[in-house]
Amino acid sequence: MAQKFSKAFYNSKEWENVREYCLMRDKYLCVNCGAPAEEVHHKIHLTPQNIGDKSISLNPNNLASLCRACHFEQHRGEHANGLKAKQREEKSQYTFDENGYLVRKNI
Ligand SMILES: [Zn+2]
Ligand SMILES: [Zn+2]
Repeated sequence: MAQKFSKAFYNSKEWENVREYCLMRDKYLCVNCGAPAEEVHHKIHLTPQNIGDKSISLNPNNLASLCRACHFEQHRGEHANGLKAKQREEKSQYTFDENGYLVRKNI
C-alpha cells in the first residue's frame, strides 16, 4: 500500500525498527486471523499530513501485524465505506420539488 509520499518513510531505518518491533510483539502472526503476518498496518492511515507525526507513523499502538489477505481486506473495506459515504452525500444533494419530481438542490 506504499504510495509516493510514503516511499521514503517505508525505506527509513526508523520504520524498519518499529515494524520489526510490532511483528515481534504480535509474534509474527496476523492479529486478525492468526496466519503468518507479512505486513504492518497503520490503524490511522498515513497521509501526507500525518506522516511526519511520529506519534502516528511510528507509534506501535497505531500498528497491527496483518497477513496480506487481511491487510488487503482492511483497506478494501475502508475504501468501500468511503464510497458509501460519498454516495450518501450525493444522494442528499437531491430533493423533491412540489410536483414530486426529483431535482438537484441548489447548493
Ligand atoms: Zn490475516
Ligand atoms: Zn494498511
